[in-house]
Amino acid sequence: MNKRTKCGVTYMSFDIFEEMGIKHGFSTRLGGVSEGVFSTMNLGFNRGDSDENVRENYRRIAKALDINYENMCFTRQTHTTNVVIVDKSSAGNGIVRANEFNDVDGLITDEPDLPLVTFHADCVPVFFYDPVKKVVALSHSGWRGTVGKISKVTVEKMAANFGTDPGDVICGIGPSICKDCYEVSADVAEALKSAFKASDVDRILRQSIFNPDDKDKYMLDLWEACKIALLEAGVKEEHIEVTDYCTRCNPKLFYSHRVMGTDRGSQAAFISL
Ligand SMILES: [Zn+2]
Repeated sequence: MNKRTKCGVTYMSFDIFEEMGIKHGFSTRLGGVSEGVFSTMNLGFNRGDSDENVRENYRRIAKALDINYENMCFTRQTHTTNVVIVDKSSAGNGIVRANEFNDVDGLITDEPDLPLVTFHADCVPVFFYDPVKKVVALSHSGWRGTVGKISKVTVEKMAANFGTDPGDVICGIGPSICKDCYEVSADVAEALKSAFKASDVDRILRQSIFNPDDKDKYMLDLWEACKIALLEAGVKEEHIEVTDYCTRCNPKLFYSHRVMGTDRGSQAAFISL
């Protein structure tokens, strides 16, 4: 994953998608007009920032990524595994008109010039592209979405609706909280243990480095868990690019829920055919 600056906006992008010419990116805090705790590229409406600032931030990043501002389609994320297929009729959902969705954590489309948008401040953005059937998707995978394997659900839905062969799909696992920052409690660990094979659990959970004597605290590796879910769906390992950027380790670059609580801006992920 690379950090790029275009039109004064700094964003993250995957080499694997750049090579295929797919318009996509993950925002950073840099290049926007918002101030204070929102400085500067806040892409979250209704967080206390002015709508006009947020709109201007969207205009700027749309220009930097060369995607259509007016056609953007937003999710309405509630940590579900609900992934919906969108077409022209959803263009502008959440940006130029009211958000029509409830409980939507992933989007899929085969429509050109219809940018998909998800929101993040420690949870994982997962990017998908099927170069054969020409389909793109994005999903939001926090611990609940990861337990429900929303990444796998997304690939399965691409296959069911567009005839996607999982072996063709290119995936990017984007910036979020890393395995050395993300401590979780026993309830989260138990949910993961019931969703993943024991040998996989060993790869995604380990004893807390912050509370090594507390048997009910664990470090969770969301990136590895998302990768395992993609492999289970039939995506090839060489088609998966995993970020090395943590949102909590880089407070100057990213808003982090763990660092800032609710008093913060929001990042967004984008992909468009
Ligand atoms: Zn970290």
